Amino acid sequence: SLDMAEKIANLFGAGLEDQVVRAVDDVNLSVAKGEVVGLVGESGCGKSTLGRVIAGILEASAGTVKYHGKEVSKMVGTERRATDLAIQMIFQDPMASLNPRMRVVDIIGEAPVVHGIIRRNEIDGYVSEVMRKVGLDPATRMRYPHQFSGGQRARIGIARALAVNPKVLVCDESTAALDVSIQAQVLNLFMDLRRELDLTYVFVSHDLGVVEHISDRVAVMYLGRIVELAGTDAIFERPNHPYTRALLDEVPRLDAKKKHFTALKGEIPSPLTPPPGCHFHPRCPFAFDRCRQERPALKDVGKGRLSACHLNDTPEGNPLMRENAPAVG
Ligand code: SF4
Ligand code: MG
Repeated sequence: SLDMAEKIANLFGAGLEDQVVRAVDDVNLSVAKGEVVGLVGESGCGKSTLGRVIAGILEASAGTVKYHGKEVSKMVGTERRATDLAIQMIFQDPMASLNPRMRVVDIIGEAPVVHGIIRRNEIDGYVSEVMRKVGLDPATRMRYPHQFSGGQRARIGIARALAVNPKVLVCDESTAALDVSIQAQVLNLFMDLRRELDLTYVFVSHDLGVVEHISDRVAVMYLGRIVELAGTDAIFERPNHPYTRALLDEVPRLDAKKKHFTALKGEIPSPLTPPPGCHFHPRCPFAFDRCRQERPALKDVGKGRLSACHLNDTPEGNPLMRENAPAVG
């Protein structure tokens, strides 16, 4: 139900104010409390924009973002500040987002002091506690960001977000810059924190392996629209949308036998001039006449799975959903 939802975004065109580009168009996404929703797609698909709008860093030019059923843009004063704190963003590159001239104690402790969560004389104890939570040694709190490893800096970024007691974390490629083993440690930290702190996550990533590992549900985006939204198992075992299918077939898997499906062909069209009808039709091996003319709506295709593909309306049904459809990978 809507009241249960931790975060609801309903967007009809979100983008940078001075751009006419609709980076995100007609996206409707609800995230339940405690849930992890992965946002995936190729670069330029609008997933980062959507993440920023959800986190309140970017204002949607149309549409609404709701938190616990209330429109965030209509909130004022204390309520707005509380909501802004409740939804925190964690960025990809901690080095770029951590002030190199600030000590870690201040990087983590500044916002809690500014927002009155703690008094300035409580900063040492408070920051030490948050650092322990993310696996950092509190004794290193007087150091500067460059004195830490990449994995530790990622933890500093997480600690800074956690320090204001958020309910929702929007993570944009938060582990992409890290070595695989470090990346796995940080993902495990995210999962531990989820359990301990009852957090909700929106996890933006181009890395399907990461998303499969971490998400309860996955939203697949293409040129600013969600083309498929379903439980992680459903998406990875039997994708409904040809674009999802193509994305998955691009992923090299350890148990890969051979490719059964046409890999993604062609460039991503410019979001300035998206193709008419289904945005994916120039690259889709299943495209037929209707696809070039009519935009497919995102709709329920069974078991709570949403997909935006005309194949689901054909008398023969969607070939990707047949029992004998080729396996992914
Ligand atoms: Fe392909 Fe048509 Fe489905 Fe778009 S609507 S994904 S072009 S089959
Ligand atoms: Mg991005």
